[in-house]
Amino acid sequence: MIRSGHPWIYAEALVPPPEPLPAGAVVEVVDFSGRFLARGLWDPGSPIAVRVFTREPGEVLGEALVRGRFLAAAERRAGILADGVTDACRLVHGEADFLPGVVCDRYGGVAVLRFDGDAAASLRPWVVRAAGAVPGIGRVLDRPFSRTRRSRGPASRGTAADEAPGLVVVRENGLTFEVDLGRGHKTGMYLDQRDNRALVRSLAGGRRTLDLFCYVGGFTVAAAAGGAGPSLSIDISKPALAAARRNLGLNGLSADERELVPADVFAWLESSESRRRTWDLIVLDPPSLAPNRSSVRAAVGAYRRLNAAVFRLAAPRALVLSCSCSSHVDEAVFRKTVLAAASDAGRRVEVVESRGAAPDHPVVSSFPEGNYLKALLLRIV
Ligand code: SAH
Repeated sequence: MIRSGHPWIYAEALVPPPEPLPAGAVVEVVDFSGRFLARGLWDPGSPIAVRVFTREPGEVLGEALVRGRFLAAAERRAGILADGVTDACRLVHGEADFLPGVVCDRYGGVAVLRFDGDAAASLRPWVVRAAGAVPGIGRVLDRPFSRTRRSRGPASRGTAADEAPGLVVVRENGLTFEVDLGRGHKTGMYLDQRDNRALVRSLAGGRRTLDLFCYVGGFTVAAAAGGAGPSLSIDISKPALAAARRNLGLNGLSADERELVPADVFAWLESSESRRRTWDLIVLDPPSLAPNRSSVRAAVGAYRRLNAAVFRLAAPRALVLSCSCSSHVDEAVFRKTVLAAASDAGRRVEVVESRGAAPDHPVVSSFPEGNYLKALLLRIV
């Protein structure tokens, strides 16, 4: 696995180091004959004990390497921002950009960082400096998601990220969204659904639209901008729905005939209320239902019931965009589950397209776990 480029080494695969090492220590992993395999960062508190940064024996794991990879990753995204209608995208996507555990999203001139685990968090000062060097970035924020805030030695002084977040307004394919950088999900919004929102916009014309788990209305706004008919958007979070309403307003889209309803989607789908109407376009984008390996079976059952309930609400020839962001439920299993759900609901569906995250969230061959977001576009036939 290591030789084929996989960036994670589990603790159970290693002979432990002779003495305890702190999180973020640079370690060399050797095979049983003592031959160099990889160099990475140590995390004693995680089942992933080593995050591999290089398999080149001579490559130093230092600030120059981190900065070089960070800036190269940001540069690869330049095309996404080049047309001037989008100013928010992921700049660094962890493992896929050879910076395991490091995520950086750009919201206009603000870079928002997230570190997955203590090993990656130890790179904070270097990453903050690299983010600040990206052309157009004026402010670097650090979402305090990691469990500890240990840093890489004295170098951390004076390089802390700006800690006071707030609201920014960003553009996505010409649409405007407010983003709460302090409290929003992920680093602020679901940038990974950008292209799928554009797809929904292109398909929405005249369609009565149901947006389930709508959050701050990404798909709702996209559908409205695409000329959708009446819409109903449901999320359990009232602050998210309030933001969805403001996002409609920011785009000059009337809230008339656009209902934003706070409810538990699972309960709503069970209720007679949901069966009063049918829809021509349905977006189903639930939170991850499988947080870990052991919950996969239960999650598959939940996806199946959820999708079946949704297919029952679809009008003839309706389009359904069914998403899963559970990395533990792979593409093949998800597709099978959704198709089984269609037959549970007594509907015949056609798979129009199978999609994933936008290309600023790339999937690389050495890290198949990165293929977390699946989006199936189906048509009732
Ligand atoms: N489609 C959105 C992202 C959805 S994220 C976008 O493109 O931006 C998942 C959403 O599900 C969150 O907003 C969360 O508040 C909501 N949620 C979680 N559990 C829920 C439940 N049981 N019922 C309704 N909404 C729920």
